[in-house]
Amino acid sequence: MKTLWAPWRMKYIKYSQITREKGICFICESLKKGVSKESLVLYIGENALIMLNLYPYNNGHLLIAPKSHVPSLTDLKDEELCELMKLTVKGIRLLKLVMKPHGFNVGINIGKVAGAGLEDHVHIHVVPRWEGDTNFMPIVSDTKVIPEAVYDTYEKLKARLNEVM
Ligand SMILES: [Zn+2]
Repeated sequence: MKTLWAPWRMKYIKYSQITREKGICFICESLKKGVSKESLVLYIGENALIMLNLYPYNNGHLLIAPKSHVPSLTDLKDEELCELMKLTVKGIRLLKLVMKPHGFNVGINIGKVAGAGLEDHVHIHVVPRWEGDTNFMPIVSDTKVIPEAVYDTYEKLKARLNEVM
């Protein structure tokens, strides 16, 4: 994987330090708020949810997480694992439909040492990739621009969600 230059994530690193000190989990907080533009939650299933990452590596960066606040895949029951993977596939289909990426990075970081920003609540990253996006993203790297782009992307994805469910 080519490293994406994502300087706006510095804000996230600071944010995740604060929330960790306060014992706040942004996935659980978003889950409580429910499906909304504000929470960035697109879909809540029986055991898992799909949300947009407020501090994305790329436009359309999704997080697929179980409702259970657990640190690792090994803590999940079969039905949770099953829905997690099903929602990952639906997330990929949705991004294909709306944003037409050329590829995806799909991955899980388990543990701080492996790069998990939020290590207490396991989640799958789905990052759409476009040809040449390593060159494109710096143009929209302004920290003021990115959050607006995330909410704009939320509306576009939400509008077509039922087509993949
Ligand atoms: Zn949590």
